[in-house]
Amino acid sequence: MKIGLIYTTTKEPESRDGSPAIMPPLSFAALAAHSGDHDIVFFDERLEVIPENPDLDLAGITINIMNVYHSYQIADKLRAAGVPVILGGYHVTMVPEEATEHADAIVIGHAELLWPELLNDFENGRLKKVYGPGTLNSSDDMVYRHDIFKPENYKIAYPVEFARGCKFSCEFCTICRFNEYKITCRRVEEVIKEIELLKSKEIFFVDDNIYAAPARVRKLLGNLSDFDLSWSSYMSLDAANDKRMLELAAASGCYMLFIGIESLNEENLKLMGKKSIINRQQILDSIKRINDYGIIVKTFFIIGYDYDTYDSIRDTFDFVRRNDLLAEFFTLLPLPGTRLYERYDKLGIINKKKYWLDPEWKSGDVVYEPLSMSVEQLQLLYEESKK
Ligand code: SF4
Repeated sequence: MKIGLIYTTTKEPESRDGSPAIMPPLSFAALAAHSGDHDIVFFDERLEVIPENPDLDLAGITINIMNVYHSYQIADKLRAAGVPVILGGYHVTMVPEEATEHADAIVIGHAELLWPELLNDFENGRLKKVYGPGTLNSSDDMVYRHDIFKPENYKIAYPVEFARGCKFSCEFCTICRFNEYKITCRRVEEVIKEIELLKSKEIFFVDDNIYAAPARVRKLLGNLSDFDLSWSSYMSLDAANDKRMLELAAASGCYMLFIGIESLNEENLKLMGKKSIINRQQILDSIKRINDYGIIVKTFFIIGYDYDTYDSIRDTFDFVRRNDLLAEFFTLLPLPGTRLYERYDKLGIINKKKYWLDPEWKSGDVVYEPLSMSVEQLQLLYEESKK
């Protein structure tokens, strides 16, 4: 059987200038590894036009909040051309009823675990409409077929996964729920073997938080120091208190860490469900401790949480500028399936309940009435943060 795995963009790219994309999407390598002997054709819409009438027996598309509308468009076209379509991913898991309208079958949760059963059912003419939830019970299932990607199509870093899940449970985040509030780590030996086989000396650990399981990650990094690698990842700021972790990170080639600070306001942090509430000086001290090991820190902030005002967000911009932080700001987005979405829905302040189905909606657009400022004010602050 010939199976197309399709990575979709947020909308049809206006041009493709032939430049490589930043990174291949690892979830498709996981699906491919669970596809047995079937032929896999991988399409990356950042690099190529998805054919409207491809020679495929089946297509699989992964959907996240940013590409919902366009993915449904592609799924509808493929099905009209006679190619059965399977949809999965975070958005499908959070809003399954909606996705079933655009698919022959959907997969909830970790799709690769249900993929062999689904392919078998399809071949035998008994495809079900819904599969899942796919639950990750063992790191033995975390396997990848990197050969579906052409290395020349990608630049910068190659993705590797060590652990899935996060030890926190922030109100606005779907990662904890998708991973059923648990962390699954791969065996260190398996990860090392995989890195040895990869051609790239630059790795991006796609983990939601590389410090999710401290003892395990210290063991991994201790084994990486002979590899002459450069690597980066997402990390929670509490790792800055772990001197051994930072030593091992630096010795194994870590050059950059992406850290969600989220807010300078303690009330916001409490509402988010952050376990450690730290003040401005503690944030600066933690970042400095990481920088002292030669590691760059890029911070992320969310603007528009309940206790944010126009002035407090301006003050956050000033804090970032004064302290020369590398920072990116995001407007708060109530993701379906989160506690935040439920809370804002009950408050009746979400202006477009299914904003992801609006073809004009894009990252940064404010979709709710902030509690202490107008939509326009928050939108302006977001635009200002991008300058
Ligand atoms: S720390 Fe990050 S990944 Fe973990 S639940 Fe919070 S926002 Fe999500």
